[in-house]
Amino acid sequence: QPSEQEFRDIAKVIPYFPFKGIPRFYDIAGFLSKPEVFQKIVDIFVARYGGMEIDGVAGMDARGFVLGPPIALALKKPFIMIRKKGKMPNCIESPPYSCEYGKRDGMCLQRDAVKSGDRILVIDDLVATGGTLSAGIQCVKMLGGIVVECACVVELKMFIDPEEGSGLPNRTKMFEQ
Ligand code: 5GP
Repeated sequence: QPSEQEFRDIAKVIPYFPFKGIPRFYDIAGFLSKPEVFQKIVDIFVARYGGMEIDGVAGMDARGFVLGPPIALALKKPFIMIRKKGKMPNCIESPPYSCEYGKRDGMCLQRDAVKSGDRILVIDDLVATGGTLSAGIQCVKMLGGIVVECACVVELKMFIDPEEGSGLPNRTKMFEQ
């Protein structure tokens, strides 16, 4: 767990962004502007996943594209993009999903990016409801891949399902997946 100061280094809290219904936005530009903090975060992920059997590191559009590549390079594994609809050719698409910001089209993954049986680590900057990561997990599974783990820098605890099935279905679904 980071200290108060470390948390402030990682994410600045911006009220009411990107719209009025979101009371707190955690801006990870905080750690991107501090190479020593960025490096420490990458090192923590690499230490956790270095010994694991992993075939690829997938990043969620868009901030997973910032965090994922240095981790993939350090692990010497391919980096895979899981993108919003309409950005890449020859894709499969997860069903539409809901997230902290509302309803979203499905996430997309190129058909040749994951082979059946590949063990994939999925990276994003932050998990709120878990809807975005759930869509990413579904993409990997649609191609026969296995999600070893999902990993983020920030977890918004207010979205953890306190009792299974109690109105925060994304996080429950994510853990089941
Ligand atoms: P979820 O799908 O878990 O509800 O929302 C997580 C997704 O929305 C992630 O892709 C993340 O980048 C973005 N997101 C939601 N809230 C925040 C926030 O406060 N800060 C940042 N940096 N991203 C957020």
